[in-house]
Formats: sequence, structure tokens, C-alpha cells
Amino acid sequence: LLRIEDVRKSYGSEEVLRDVSMTVDRGDVEVLVGPSGSGKSTLLQCINRLTEVDSGRIFLEDLEITAPETDPNEVRGRIGMVFQDINLFTHLTARKNVTLGLEKVRGMDREEARLRADEELDRVGLADQADSYPAQLSGGQKQRVGIARALAMDPELMLFDEPTSALDPELSNEVLAVMEQLVEEGMTMVVVTHEMRFARGGATGITFLDEGEIVERGPPETLFENPDHERTARFFESIR
Ligand code: ATP
Ligand code: MG
Repeated sequence: LLRIEDVRKSYGSEEVLRDVSMTVDRGDVEVLVGPSGSGKSTLLQCINRLTEVDSGRIFLEDLEITAPETDPNEVRGRIGMVFQDINLFTHLTARKNVTLGLEKVRGMDREEARLRADEELDRVGLADQADSYPAQLSGGQKQRVGIARALAMDPELMLFDEPTSALDPELSNEVLAVMEQLVEEGMTMVVVTHEMRFARGGATGITFLDEGEIVERGPPETLFENPDHERTARFFESIR
């Protein structure tokens, strides 16, 4: 479904991604881990065309995401993203936050969009909060609205960038439960997270990134218990 080929990216003289290649098949849940500054967010941003690669190519099926003629909005219509900072429109209700894209991007009429939004809010356990404004919601609830908003667009792939790292453990669990449900539904996901419980339970693969390079990739058991590289072992020790 997703193919990343030799992606390089620098900010000024700093090489943030060095020859990153990976593939994600339909139904895979790839968890991306690595120290702060290793390039995890940058890689997700390249996948969603929020930033441009310097070289290399990224494909979603037949669509070359990185081609200059590819419309970033087409990419973002097919790939949903959930960020660490919960970026809802504060002047809109939960439901309106979800319907906005459906009406503006998908061209749905109001009623159809409303029905769809309510379905997605129900899916993340927020059927009763559709009329609430972000200020009336907890961090975990806001994050789930963000997930509902992304899911409403019926994405082929979901990207998560530390969706729980700004949340208390209890609220994190609500969000993780929704993500685990998506895993069960067979959603293809690339997830940056330090939640090793999620990685252990849900991931089909773990990719360990350090200083912009993929050091090691494999099934969760191997990376946790028996990594090939000392850097990987040290990293997992450090976050335990
Ligand atoms: P964290 O775990 O802290 O979120 P990360 O692995 O997501 O880290 P990135 O955010 O991808 O790391 O950043 C990788 C490097 O690129 C960092 O050194 C960062 O300072 C730099 N960087 C990221 N975005 C920009 C930008 N827009 N302009 C300049 N430098 C940037
Ligand atoms: Mg990051």
C-alpha cells in the first residue's frame, strides 16, 4: 500500500532522514520508534506531503506522493493524520469539526455529512458529545474527535504522531482503545508512539529510527527481546 524509497531530507545542514526505505502492506500496523529528533515526525510529514523530500520517492499504491504534479490534497484525502497537538477548530462543535472536511473536501450535503459525522463519533465512543465544543472536552475526547475527523474521510492509511503523549495515562487509554479497535478492523496504520503496550499488542512491525536512519525493523518480539543492534537494545532500555 505504501512504499518509501531512499528518502532523504535535510533542514539546512542537518540531515534529518538518510536513505529511509520501508513498505507498509494493507492491514499492517507499523510502529515507528526512536529518540527525540530522530526524524519520526518528519517522515510522517513527508508521507502526507506536509513537507517535501529532498530526494527519494514515496508511493501510495500507484500514486507517487512525492511527484511535484501530485496534488497534496489528493494525498491528504487518502491518508488520515492524527497529531500530538489536538488541532480542532475551537469555535466549532465536535460534530462540525468532523463535517467540515466532508462538506468542503468531499462535497457532501449537510445532512449526509451530519449522519456520517455522527457515525464516526459513535465509532470513537463520543456519540453523546457531538454538540460539545473542544473546550468542554477532555484531552482524550478531543483526540478522539481528531481520529473521528480523519476516519470520516475513509482513508486508506492512517498516520498517528504520538497521539497520546500529551495525555494523562487514563485519557491515553481511551485513545489507545480506539486505536486498538482500528487495528482489529484491519486499518493500515503507521504509528509513532512510545506506548510499548500498544506496540506489543497491535503492531505487525516495529521500525527503529535513530539519527534519521532505520537501524532495524522487525516483528515486535524480536525488537523487544532480541534486537540485532545494540542501539536498539539501548533505546528500549531507556524507555522502559
Ligand atoms: P520527537 O520524538 O521529539 O518528536 P522526531 O523523531 O519526531 O522527534 P523530528 O521532529 O522529525 O524528530 O525532527 C528531526 C530533526 O529535524 C530535529 O533535529 C528537528 O530539530 C529538525 N526539524 C524538524 N522540523 C524542522 C523544521 N521545520 N525546520 C527545521 N528543522 C526541523
Ligand atoms: Mg515527533
